[in-house]
Amino acid sequence: MTSIPSNKPYRVGRSRTGLGLFATKPIKKGTKIIRYFGPLLDSKKKEEDAIENKYLFELNNRWTIDGSVRKNIARYINHACRPNAESDVKPRKRKVFIRAIKNIEPGEEINYDYGTDYFKAYLKPIGCKCDACEKKRKKKRAEARAEKARLKAKAERKALKKAEKLAKEQQKAEAELKEKLKAKAARKSKKLNGHSLNGKSLNGKSLNGKHLNGNGRARVADRKPAGRKQPVSAPAPALQA
Ligand SMILES: [Zn+2]
Repeated sequence: MTSIPSNKPYRVGRSRTGLGLFATKPIKKGTKIIRYFGPLLDSKKKEEDAIENKYLFELNNRWTIDGSVRKNIARYINHACRPNAESDVKPRKRKVFIRAIKNIEPGEEINYDYGTDYFKAYLKPIGCKCDACEKKRKKKRAEARAEKARLKAKAERKALKKAEKLAKEQQKAEAELKEKLKAKAARKSKKLNGHSLNGKSLNGKSLNGKHLNGNGRARVADRKPAGRKQPVSAPAPALQA
């Protein structure tokens, strides 16, 4: 690891994205933490303008710091969307300092916002992994999980309701069928009773005398008007006796 004088309030350490710079002492808001430095590239020189790496820090239209040199410890500082430090650019002096914009506690990672251009070019495509973005992602995942659970519960409730409705309908249909069968049975028995009670076949015939001799005894349970076919003149055995 790169050696840093121990009087400095930071060290290089492992971070979420690889390496990062961490506070080793309390750093007060407003303090210059470290200078971001490296060879100055002149955009007017073709070969210098062609240099391309992730550590370029544009000072103005003409000058860019190439911070990829190993000695530039500030290059370990990771980007954050809600940082605790900022880049303090002095274009005329062609210098950049990283300055605390919050009180930073020992152990805390030091971050600054790399700016929109860098974010769009390097971070957006792979997804920013800063604390704020991770938190946002976590929240979104939790919300998605909650929404999924809510939809599942809703679907289950719906299915249950549907099953209950179906069962009720079945019950109703069965009850109706039973009722129908009962009514049918009742009609049947009423018909039977009616025959014997309204006297049409028994009393009526025996009372109006038409078929007094007409086998009245045998016809109590006989619904067929067979009696009519019986010859009226046929003498009944009962009468004979
Ligand atoms: Zn972020």
